[in-house]
Parts: sequence; C-alpha cells; structure tokens
Amino acid sequence: MSGTVFKAILWKELRENLKWGDLVLPGTAVPTQNQAPNCGKDADLPDRSVDADLVGTFEGANHNRCGIFRPQYDCRMRENDLEFCSVCRRKIIRDLVTKLNDDRAVFFANLLIRDDEDPWPRGNGEIYLHYDLHSGGQTLSGRWPAEGESSFDDGDAKDINFFAGVMPQPLPGEPSSIDLRVRESDWPDGDDDLSSDATEPLPVSGAFSVDRDDYRLNGNVESADLRVLLDVLNVKDDQDGFFTGDGDIYVEYTVSNGSQSVTGRWPASDTHSMGDHDTAYMNVLAASLPAPPADGTLSIHLRVFDEDGFLADGDDQIGDDTFTFSSADDFGATATTHVRDLSGYRITFSIAKRPPPVIGRLRTNQAGLELASAPIRGSLDVTRAAPAIVRAGPRPESHRALARMQTALP
Ligand SMILES: [Zn+2]
Repeated sequence: MSGTVFKAILWKELRENLKWGDLVLPGTAVPTQNQAPNCGKDADLPDRSVDADLVGTFEGANHNRCGIFRPQYDCRMRENDLEFCSVCRRKIIRDLVTKLNDDRAVFFANLLIRDDEDPWPRGNGEIYLHYDLHSGGQTLSGRWPAEGESSFDDGDAKDINFFAGVMPQPLPGEPSSIDLRVRESDWPDGDDDLSSDATEPLPVSGAFSVDRDDYRLNGNVESADLRVLLDVLNVKDDQDGFFTGDGDIYVEYTVSNGSQSVTGRWPASDTHSMGDHDTAYMNVLAASLPAPPADGTLSIHLRVFDEDGFLADGDDQIGDDTFTFSSADDFGATATTHVRDLSGYRITFSIAKRPPPVIGRLRTNQAGLELASAPIRGSLDVTRAAPAIVRAGPRPESHRALARMQTALP
C-alpha cells in the first residue's frame, strides 16, 4: 500500500470518528489545514484557508505545532478575546443544560367581554389590553393585540392563543403575578376602562383566570424548556449585484412549537456589515418555548436580507428557509448544534432542552433520606413513614446560563 493511499484511509477513518464529525460539512476537506512542514518551534500558524465558521481539522493544538488538530481555525481556547468555536459552544451548552432556569411561558387562551362599557352604540367594542407579568424580580410588559384592537360584542368570547412572553421562575416566597388593564378604544374621546384593573397571582404551572364583572381572561403557564440560540452566520453571497463591498445584513427569525411562536430580528436594529464569506457571531437567544407535543414539530424560519438603503427598491433576500425538528431527535436537542449550508449563507444554531424536573419518591432509610432514581408516574402510594413528591429545584443560585453565555461574551 502506498503511503498516499494509507494516509487517505487514515483521514477517512478520522473523519468518520471525529468527535465533532457531524459539524464538518461534506465539502470541507479533512485535514482542513496542515501546519506541516512548518513544524519547528518558531513556525507561525498558517493563514486561515477557509471561512472562519467552518469546522474541520486544523493542525496545531494543545501546544503542539503538528500532529494534533483543532476543530476550528480560531477559538477562545487559543485566544482570550475571541469567541468560542462551535465545538466548544456545543460542549458548554451540553454541560450547562441541566443548570438552565426553569423559565415560565405565559399564554392567553381566551378572552370573554361581558360588557364593553360603551354606552352609546351597543355595537362592537374595540378591545385591547395591557399586561405586566411579575416574576423572579423581573417585569415583562406587553399588549394584546400587538397593534390595533379586536372587535367584541357584549358576551363575545374569543380564543386568542396569545404568547404573552417568558418570565423567570418565581423566587421563593414571591409568587408571580399579572397586572391587567383591559380597554375599549373610543376615538376620539378617550378610552373606556373595563371594570377593575386587575392584579392576580399566577400559578407556577397550569391554568389561570382573571375574572372581573366586565371581562374574563383565561390563560396558562408552562415550562419554557426549549431554548433556541442563533450562533454564527456566514454570508456567502450578499446578492448585491452592484456593490462588491460590504453587505448590510439583517436576519428575521420565527421560532414555533406548533401552537406558539416567537419572532425577532438580528441585529435588533440597523444592520451588520458583512462582505461575502464574512462570519458574524450572532449570539442570539432567539426563543424560550415549551417543547412541542410528541407528535409536533419545532420549526425555525429564517429570512436573511441585505439592506439596499435608498439606492434600490427593497432589500435583497439572501435566504428564506425553514428548519424543522421532531421528537425523534428531541427537537434538535440531541445533536445540540446544527450547521445549515445554504446557497447564499450558512448558519450555525443550537437547541437546548432543559431536562424534565426530577420527580422521585423520598424515602427514609437508616442513613437518612434518599431520592428514588426512577421517576414516579401516576398516583403516589402513601403508606409508611411520610413519602412525598419531591421536585428538584428551583435552584435560586442558578442563573440563565445559556442566555448569559450567549450575551456576555465579548
Ligand atoms: Zn473551541
């Protein structure tokens, strides 16, 4: 067997057995970049030969010039002022996922208007409401509908299926609550208050109802156990036919679990200047949502644009893609980090799913208390001693680990 053939077989085997092999795109050469023959002590690292976001095998790692490979050209593990590479990120997310806060998603299910307080045409009320959710020392405010009003006749009930937002789990001794202000729009003479602005406690989990003389809002609180993070964007071609220079890039995203969706934009305002084959670390916590039901789908819809300012009509669309995940791979959380290589751009994103809280049987033995490892389903057999259902957490000291990781890095 010639040396070349032997090497080729070795590299094929390496590709198949790489710990981060699933993040290496089929078109990326392995090895991706060699240091050899410059293996001497004073040899410089060769210039980067591929886009900065590409994962592969780059020779020179762990204080060795040759023979050991790193997964991405640059990483915070080499230089402190850089971002972590995708492989490190994935490892960090997997290690921290059990420390994620048990954030709560709040939904408004339906709204009944008994009396719109509109004395003069007994017709349609133009209804809207403001809300403040208080939990864990934070306040989240919003409005339904996001714009305008919704028409109700007296006695109308509507399923509004509105995702009000995600709030941290309550602190011990401080229950969550909702402030509600329901209004009827009465242009031009000022809006009518519907009876009794309300402040009501919210459950940690489950259904709630704010019931007043004039209205009733039903909703529910669920664990937002699924997090979607947009990590890295590479713009391959900004579709800008007439300037060869920087593209003014922005991304619109919608994450949906089938019944609820979250939309956002990166950057939050303005654009990010990127030339062709430039890489940007987005570091966006795009969504915290309840996981879809077992037969449901998580979808991530991305639209990537190059803003064309006043020079052209409308912005250039670089991509419009939807990525879906099912329960077969735990809605993307099994692989954690995903690379999608499209014609105009490439994106790396991560999905983390907080494991369900441990529910076990607390039983006494001679050594003290012991938590049964098998989860208990159904009713608890209350017999001897004092068995109880124990819920692991909340962990008051834990922080929003992923969100912090995504936002705190330079
Ligand atoms: Zn790394």
